[in-house]
Amino acid sequence: MGSFSDEYDVIIVGGGVMGSSAAHQLAKRGQKTLLLEQFDFLHHRGSSHGESRTICPTYPADYYYPMVMESYQLWGQAQAEIGYKVLFNAPHLDIYRDYDKRLRETISTWKKNGATYEILHDELVKDKFSGRIDIPEDWIGLFTEDGGVIKPTKAVSMFQTLAYKYGAVLRDNTEVLNIEKDEVKGVVVTTTKGEKFCGKRCVVTAGAWTSKLVKTVSGIELPIQPLETCALYWRIKEGHEAKFSIEGDFPTFASYGVPYVYGTPCLEYPGLIKVAVHGGDPCDPDKRPWKPGHMMDSLKQWIERTFKGMVDSSGPVATQLCMYSWTPDEDFIIDFLGGGFGKDVVVAGGFSGHGFKMSPIIGRILADLVLTGEAEGVEMKYFRIARFEENPKGNFKDFMH
Ligand SMILES: Cc1cc2nc3c(=O)[nH]c(=O)nc-3n(C[C@H](O)[C@H](O)[C@H](O)COP(=O)(O)OP(=O)(O)OC[C@H]3O[C@@H](n4cnc5c(N)ncnc54)[C@H](O)[C@@H]3O)c2cc1C
Repeated sequence: MGSFSDEYDVIIVGGGVMGSSAAHQLAKRGQKTLLLEQFDFLHHRGSSHGESRTICPTYPADYYYPMVMESYQLWGQAQAEIGYKVLFNAPHLDIYRDYDKRLRETISTWKKNGATYEILHDELVKDKFSGRIDIPEDWIGLFTEDGGVIKPTKAVSMFQTLAYKYGAVLRDNTEVLNIEKDEVKGVVVTTTKGEKFCGKRCVVTAGAWTSKLVKTVSGIELPIQPLETCALYWRIKEGHEAKFSIEGDFPTFASYGVPYVYGTPCLEYPGLIKVAVHGGDPCDPDKRPWKPGHMMDSLKQWIERTFKGMVDSSGPVATQLCMYSWTPDEDFIIDFLGGGFGKDVVVAGGFSGHGFKMSPIIGRILADLVLTGEAEGVEMKYFRIARFEENPKGNFKDFMH
């Protein structure tokens, strides 16, 4: 074995939002932390770059509601620590075809948690948004004031800056090739440049590369499928720009139909609104097709119909490609790797296109798992790797069937 560059309490592999949030939490708790990233920090080849992510608690599965709510608090704390904002408040509107199971279960979760919301039939949606949003007659809107937009690249930078401030060592352009258990040294992490780092524990937050890396180091096959997806920006027609602005109370939104459409109000680019399809095409993260336009024709029709011709639906004027890490049940994987690694290596991946908003609590959970073996106040059974051994489809969800 070659010489060791240094020794750490925790080594984190992957400097996207999850690894950076974990680095912040661990360094803040006094852990000697090393964050390793294969590309440049804040690169655009993974899942955490760009200008906007939605935050809202609209989940039918009740275990996410408290996680989103704690995340709001942790976003607030991190913003106070750094001294600038990454989260911008906005209302949120979900649109469902009739009273489907997803809607009924979301309402039931909200009732249990005392959330404030409004159920809006088509005319009420039109009234609420003064004609800016129009939904079909038999569809139903679910409205909450608890939405918001997070600036992702800025947020990753915030977590990395805070981690650094608390003493973490941050290394980019450092690709991890292998992770091994060593009886004396703990966990040994080897890079493609032949450097070796050792840590008492290791956290793997490798995004779309998670299943590849975990397979290499442990032989374990995680059912995480990378998908290439695309954020699309559309021009708001002249004279209507202010109506779609975050300052003009326009909401973040999701429409649970085919396609499943989501978007954010005009914030990052003047005169443009983000409207995209939730989903994408399977890809190898190292051989990306770089091909925008999943279900584009249906999306154009949706925009034309919903925004009553006030947004130019002829085509997007800006696109940004990105990757999802999809699991069969769309729930996260957060667990000890087990096998020869026991509890020394924790893996967190498969965020299935909805993890960003919860990155602060994911960082908190990872720090808890590393330091105490348990995540305080979080029911972890939904995120275990073993759920796929019991059922390859993972957690049972009524509304997905
Ligand atoms: C277009 C789009 C829109 C989205 N919208 C929302 C939304 O509105 N709300 C929401 O909550 N979520 C949303 N998400 C999901 C959210 O962005 C992701 O869940 C989150 O960014 C995942 O972060 P991550 O850290 O797991 O992955 P990544 O950001 O990909 O980070 C993983 C990092 O690991 C590095 N890495 C991999 N292998 C190695 C290695 N061997 N050595 C060193 N480094 C390595 C990679 O280079 C990468 O930087 C969206 C995602 C996309 C793509």
